[in-house]
Amino acid sequence: MPSPSLQTRKHIFSKISSKEAAKLVQDMVRKPSVNPPGNEAEVAQYLAEKMREIGLDVETFEIMPHRPNVTGRLKGEKGHPILMLNGHLDVVPLGNTELWTVEPFGGEIRDGRVHGRGSADMKGGLAAMFLAAKALKESNVSLKGDLLLTAVVDEEVTGSGAQGLIDRGYTADMAVVAEPTELRPVRAHKGLLWLEISTTGKAVHSSRVSSRGASGEVNAVYKMAKILDALQTYLIELEKRDDPLVGNPTVSVGTITGGSKTNMVPDRCSITVDRRLLPHESSDDAKAEVEDILRRLRKEDPSLKTELKVVLSREGAVTGIDEQVVHLSKEAAEEVLGTEVEVSGSPATSDMTIFVNQASIPTVLLGPGRLGAAHITDEYVEVDQVVRAAKIFALMALKALG
Ligand SMILES: [Zn+2]
Repeated sequence: MPSPSLQTRKHIFSKISSKEAAKLVQDMVRKPSVNPPGNEAEVAQYLAEKMREIGLDVETFEIMPHRPNVTGRLKGEKGHPILMLNGHLDVVPLGNTELWTVEPFGGEIRDGRVHGRGSADMKGGLAAMFLAAKALKESNVSLKGDLLLTAVVDEEVTGSGAQGLIDRGYTADMAVVAEPTELRPVRAHKGLLWLEISTTGKAVHSSRVSSRGASGEVNAVYKMAKILDALQTYLIELEKRDDPLVGNPTVSVGTITGGSKTNMVPDRCSITVDRRLLPHESSDDAKAEVEDILRRLRKEDPSLKTELKVVLSREGAVTGIDEQVVHLSKEAAEEVLGTEVEVSGSPATSDMTIFVNQASIPTVLLGPGRLGAAHITDEYVEVDQVVRAAKIFALMALKALG
C-alpha cells in the first residue's frame, strides 16, 4: 500500500488540534444520550451539523422515532475502496449517581481529560473520526476511495442502529469501530447469550412442610439451588476452553427472584444468566449446553421442572489476521504512537459483530480511552488520545484510499 509522504502527513496532522478535540467531546457529553431509552437525536443533530459544515455528504435517517443514524461521506475520485469509521451515539446509564464526583453530563476538563458519561464510550471516538475527516478535507488531499463516517444509535442495547445501516445498503471494504481500546487494534470480540431459567414448584403453607414433601409441596427455590451449583461447575468446564485472543468463555448468574411470602413455599424461582461466547462459538450451541445440564438434572430429580428462555443474544466476531484492515490499523497506530503495537481481542461485544457477521466487512476496533474507564462512574477520555486516534484514522485513510 502506498505510504503518504512525510510532508503530506505533517500537513494533515497539523490540522488536528487538541483544543478542538476537547471541545467536540465536551459538546457531545453535554448532549446526554442514555440508552435506555436512547435520546440520541440531539447529539446526532450536532454531529450532522458539524459534518455538513466541513462539506461531507450527510444523511440522517431514523431507526426508531427520534433516534436517527447519521452518516457523512468524504467522496474520493473513484468512490472505492470504502473505509468506514463507525461509532455509536448512545451511552450507558449513570449507575449510582451519588458515586460520581464530577457532573456526569458536564464535560469537565481536568488534567487533560474530558470527564462525563460517554466520554470514552464513545464520544471521544466520534470526535476522532470527525477530526480525521476534517483534516483530510481541509488539506485537499486527493483520495481515490470514500471515507465514510457512520454514527449509529442503540449499540448498548440491541445493535439496531448498525443493523439499520446495513439494511439501508451501506457497505464498506473495511471498517474501524472507534470503541475505547487505548488506540490498540482489536480484531476479535466475544459474543453473549442472556438466558432466563425458571423452576416451578407447588405452593403450600410453610407451616405444613416436611422433609419428605408430605403435603405435596415442591420448593422452587430449593430446586433452583441445584441449577446454581451446576452452573458453577459449568464455569470450571468453560475455563478450559482458552482462546488466544479473548481468553475463555464464561457463565455468570446475574439476578434471582423467587417466592412471594415468607410463610409460603415458593412455586416459582427465576434466574438470569450471562453466558459469554468465544468469537467462533454460536449462541445455539451454548444454549444447547445449558439445556443438556438442565436435562441431566431433571433426570436425577424427576420433580425438577425447568423453563429456559433466550433474553438476548449477540454473536462474537473475528476478523482474519491477514485482512488489510488489521495490517493498516497496526501500521498506522505504530507510526503515530512510535512504538510496537499488538493486535488483540476484547471481552466486550460491540457493533463489530454486525459488520463482520451480517455484512462481511473486515472490521477492527480501535479508539481513544480505556475500556476500563467506560461504563463506570467518573468516566473520562484523555484529549491526547482523541488527537492521536484522529491521526491514526487519517493515516489509515491515506494508506487505504490514497
Ligand atoms: Zn461502546
